[in-house]
Amino acid sequence: MPDLVITGGTVVSAARSVVADVAITDGRIQAVRRDVARRGAETIDAAGLLVLPGCVDVHTHTRLPTPEEPDRFFADSVAAAFGGTTTFLAFNNPGTGISEAGTRSLLAGLREFRQRTKGESAVDFGLSAVLSGEQKNPLAELPRLIRAGVPTFKAFMVYDFRLSDAQLFAAMQAAARYGGMLEIHCENATIIDALVAREIRSRHTACRYHAASRPAYAEAEATHRAVALARAAGASIYIVHLSCAEALAAVEAGKRAGVSVHAETCPQYLTLTDQLYAEESEAEVIKRVISPPLRSAADTSALWAGLATGALDVVASDHVPDRCAVEKRLPAPRFDRISNGAPGIETLLTILYSEGFAKGRLSLERMVDVLATTPARLFGLASKGTIEPGRDADLVLFDPAARRVLRQDDLHHTSDFTPFEEMDLAGAVRTVLVRGRPVIRDGDFVGQRGSGAFVERAL
Ligand code: MN
Ligand code: MN
Repeated sequence: MPDLVITGGTVVSAARSVVADVAITDGRIQAVRRDVARRGAETIDAAGLLVLPGCVDVHTHTRLPTPEEPDRFFADSVAAAFGGTTTFLAFNNPGTGISEAGTRSLLAGLREFRQRTKGESAVDFGLSAVLSGEQKNPLAELPRLIRAGVPTFKAFMVYDFRLSDAQLFAAMQAAARYGGMLEIHCENATIIDALVAREIRSRHTACRYHAASRPAYAEAEATHRAVALARAAGASIYIVHLSCAEALAAVEAGKRAGVSVHAETCPQYLTLTDQLYAEESEAEVIKRVISPPLRSAADTSALWAGLATGALDVVASDHVPDRCAVEKRLPAPRFDRISNGAPGIETLLTILYSEGFAKGRLSLERMVDVLATTPARLFGLASKGTIEPGRDADLVLFDPAARRVLRQDDLHHTSDFTPFEEMDLAGAVRTVLVRGRPVIRDGDFVGQRGSGAFVERAL
């Protein structure tokens, strides 16, 4: 006998949508079919609603709690739940992972992350480590890190802590050898440094020159190079936050050549454009200082097409909970000194549904694939990502008929703005279950701090 039955909803998987009941026992899905026996079980009526697998947001910079802001990790995990995300992966925060010896260490970073997030999250979560040029010998730590449930790690081709091509290549080889996957931020550092210097020489210091100094071709070149390195290393790689048609072409060429390259884009690159940098005030532009920057309308169209065809594999948020009151305060510093990033942990699903499915750019099945099924598979979350017997009962009951306007005032994240302010939205998250337990019920938070578990992953 099940503990709970979700009755009469349209259950969506990457392959099909069917009207069915979902029976849940001990936090796991027991059966998905019409008219399951429900005697004695609690029921939730999902007639008229979509039943989706909880989103798996593999790209967040959720902040760890501090003595000054003890609720930060918890609050963003609640925001994730409100948005229909039941598992998120965070990266190590800058400045964490200092070992007793005073050097930066991946294993020290994992220990610190586990300890500081213990008892905090309302939904399930995991860690992706950051490999940086500041660590002493990070590759030596990879086997132990992977065995401890962290098989994905991010490297940067830009910023002070970037890896050289030789270091990237070695990291790819190590990942391939030990069963890990490298995630890569692709932008050409030499081009960007030169263009930043040129703008500053021209006394162009306003926020919008951030975008002017990071052109699409600099991202495309680095993406092409990362794919070529992966091809030579025989490694599986994951391109984070791909933003433009030129970089997408590099990924497509790699896939055609048989390279195991996967690519992610984000709602901001699908729905906002660089026109905003030309037209809006500093107060609005600073909220969209992100890397890569927003691109052209033609790029957004290419990304939607790439999602539909499978050239792009995943949509994740790249959530950075910066605040206008702190990191993005006016008067803005010089454009190259502004914190890069914008929040999105709470708006991933509704934006994809509204701008993707409701506008005819993406089928419901493909939406579920790029938000849940494929990220769970690529990131080693075997019990997540689809609604089938044996998997965790991480479910979203989604009302396709709802209409609303997205406003910061209605969000729960720890940022004080949303880059999508006043976007008209179709659909709304009504109820969210994590391992069979309601976390959001009819739009209210009913979960518990600490009921979310750290998930040890394996590829
Ligand atoms: Mn990045
Ligand atoms: Mn990021």
